[in-house]
Amino acid sequence: MNYDLAVVGGGILGSFHAYHAAKAGLKTIIIEKSPKAMGASVRNFGQVVPSGFDLNRWHHYGRYSTELYKQFGRDHGFDVFENGSTYIASTMGELAVLEEAYQRFLESGYECELWSKSKLINRYPAVDVNYPVGALHFPQEVSVIPGNLMNQLHGMLEEMGVEVLTNTAVVRCDAEADSALILTAGGMRISASKAIICNGSDFEFLYPEIFANAPLELVKLQMLQTHPIQKARIPGNILTGLSVRRYESFKGCHAHALLDPSEVNTDLTDNGIHILFKQNPDGSVVIGDSHHYADIHRRDQLDFAENGYVNDLILNEANRIIPFPKSKIARAWSGYYSQTTSEEGIFEFNIENQIYISTGIGGKGMTASAGYAAENIKRIFALEKISMKA
Ligand SMILES: Cc1cc2nc3c(=O)[nH]c(=O)nc-3n(C[C@H](O)[C@H](O)[C@H](O)COP(=O)(O)OP(=O)(O)OC[C@H]3O[C@@H](n4cnc5c(N)ncnc54)[C@H](O)[C@@H]3O)c2cc1C
Repeated sequence: MNYDLAVVGGGILGSFHAYHAAKAGLKTIIIEKSPKAMGASVRNFGQVVPSGFDLNRWHHYGRYSTELYKQFGRDHGFDVFENGSTYIASTMGELAVLEEAYQRFLESGYECELWSKSKLINRYPAVDVNYPVGALHFPQEVSVIPGNLMNQLHGMLEEMGVEVLTNTAVVRCDAEADSALILTAGGMRISASKAIICNGSDFEFLYPEIFANAPLELVKLQMLQTHPIQKARIPGNILTGLSVRRYESFKGCHAHALLDPSEVNTDLTDNGIHILFKQNPDGSVVIGDSHHYADIHRRDQLDFAENGYVNDLILNEANRIIPFPKSKIARAWSGYYSQTTSEEGIFEFNIENQIYISTGIGGKGMTASAGYAAENIKRIFALEKISMKA
């Protein structure tokens, strides 16, 4: 079988590479080892938040992705919710960071609004009145339901003529004279002019010699979801004071350096916890998350189990912001992603002119993959035509 492009890995990053390749008229196949996407791309919040990134290329990829998601919602009925993102400051120091960020975003042409405490409480009556001192709102940002999105995206790719081959692990991929030769665990051979490897956090199958020296770490995140809470309506992406302290876009503000660390319980920072909320259409609320790290060669250090103490820390802090009874928790899970420790924001490695590894996008994949993949396909196939317009 001959293709212009074979994409190994059917998560969000691989799928958007396939989307842009198919849009450019390239005969494309995705090869995914699981029955459907089951990795980070379906275990995440589904918050599309370019506001969390520095004003660098990743922010612009995020802006592009946001417009593309909106287009998918309008034209293809994807579950994309246009309710914006709101960062809630809980101290005067955090508010000073938001005020400075507000100026920076406005100067860069990215729309946002500073909200007083009373405006925030008016919009979000479920928020405990003792928590906020003010907020920064990004009206243009969106959220998705990750599991739905991946099914909808794969369905759309198939309609565009992309072959989505599931239950098929790739165990070798070699650069031949002018093609990439793929061997699957079942012995199938697939040939393509080029292959892009978006293996996420799976390092067991391909290129052990390359990943042996790669600047990559594995990150474990704990997440919770409530039963439907019909009384509280909290539309959009809700991010909180600990997110203001954690996210890149705010770390660049002068006011960030003046934040008082003693205002935060060290158990929260030691477990990489910041509190995010996202309500689904059925009324259930997704709450998270924590961050624990290990070098990819020592990923056995990251337990597969849910740590009850960490979940309690998340719930106690969440309850301080939006109170709800603990009996409302319906499920809890862990998600894992790989992340590069380099400045680039992604791990890239080329083998000849045939094989292109792209992984380690970290915690920004749902926001930035569409934009990054558009540029990567353009570069790899030397295309003139892909514009950064959705
Ligand atoms: C809990 C959590 C919350 C998050 N929240 C957000 C958020 O709100 N917003 C945001 O922007 N980002 C968020 N992220 C980050 C985002 O989910 C990831 O950046 C993104 O999903 C990574 O996508 P990926 O395609 O690289 O990896 P994956 O989703 O892991 O996909 C890789 C795929 O490759 C397949 N594969 C690997 N090796 C092979 C092989 N040899 N053969 C065949 N198939 C193979 C795997 O089966 C897998 O399906 C979150 C992540 C987590 C875990």
